[in-house]
Amino acid sequence: MIDVDELLRRGWRAHPFRQFLLKVHSRCNLACDYCYVYTLADQSWRSQPMIMDPALITVAAHRIAQHADDHDLTSVRVILHGGEPLLAGHGYLANIVDTIRKEVGGGLRVDAAIQTNAVLLDAAALRSFSALDVRVGVSLDGSPRGNNRNRRFADGRGSYDAVARALRLLGSEPFRHLYSGLLCTVDLANSPIETYEALIEFEPPAIDFLVPHATWDSPPPTRDPDATPYADWLITIFDHWYGSRGETVIRLFEEIINVLLGRSSATEVIGLTPSSLVVIETDGTIEQTDSLKVVQQGAAATGLNIVDHSFDAALRHPGIVARQLGWDALSDTCQACRFGRVCGGGLYAHRYRTGSGFRNPSVYCDDLYRLIEHIRARLVADLRRSTGRPIT
Ligand code: SF4
Repeated sequence: MIDVDELLRRGWRAHPFRQFLLKVHSRCNLACDYCYVYTLADQSWRSQPMIMDPALITVAAHRIAQHADDHDLTSVRVILHGGEPLLAGHGYLANIVDTIRKEVGGGLRVDAAIQTNAVLLDAAALRSFSALDVRVGVSLDGSPRGNNRNRRFADGRGSYDAVARALRLLGSEPFRHLYSGLLCTVDLANSPIETYEALIEFEPPAIDFLVPHATWDSPPPTRDPDATPYADWLITIFDHWYGSRGETVIRLFEEIINVLLGRSSATEVIGLTPSSLVVIETDGTIEQTDSLKVVQQGAAATGLNIVDHSFDAALRHPGIVARQLGWDALSDTCQACRFGRVCGGGLYAHRYRTGSGFRNPSVYCDDLYRLIEHIRARLVADLRRSTGRPIT
């Protein structure tokens, strides 16, 4: 267990939150097989109110303003999330953004975004987002066959057609500027190139590939200790994408390249960048990142809520501190690893094992190592070619 008081005595300082993820609606209109909210160890959504109360939005706005003031922040990001946020109605979502911006005042820029399955994303919703410059990210797992393998309605119908309709609208004028990208969960049963091509068809400004959330106690669906199937899948896409640079941004690859070149990563998926994200549930409770729901019931909880506690109180929570500690939170194996500072031990939740907690390599360790090694080899070969000098 991390001793936060001792860390503070030794001069460690927390990094303020800059991203506030609001669970505006706790239910979903899809029933995806791998969903980390509804199908994994933590079932706390069952006790959450369906929708965030308007009074809590005002409280959240005051807390965000207070946090920004205490830490001299000039901008923050508010992410509308769920469940499926559009189930709250686009008018309600617009009101949330409007309320927060009015409550925090003109000194703090509030960038707003929504992550949606897009089933309910229509022209009326996009007009309302356009008026407030709310950026839209959409979840899609690739081709009709690939997407509908997991992303289905509760009655078994696939969601692809509805999402494709929404993406054609989002990707065209006058809404194109709102389009932030696609989020694709890797399923090894899908062909990587077919998946990539199907995503590119919608001309996304960026693609995020996510591996299914897993721990050492609940390993990935197809974990094989003698193979690296997730790395192999991603490397096939990397090689295809690397040869066509400029087609889109693939954040996972670009983050690895950035860190290999000595820069810092922008997310906690790769590298040692401190987490700056906090979650507010529909009942106002403050939680850690959603991916922890794979660990066990209540693993994301902090015991805090926005009515009684400031966000600074959450900054002292051992779980949040651990996700900000970077190198010092890594296991001995990761600290001794050739790619320890590039990989950063993988996503925090993926390190969990009963007994040793989070001081383990990622359950995706072999895949991460192989992927990073491959990307490094491609970069080194390119640098050798362009400089004519040996690079080790
Ligand atoms: S590759 Fe494995 S051992 Fe190396 S830092 Fe990542 S998780 Fe840790």
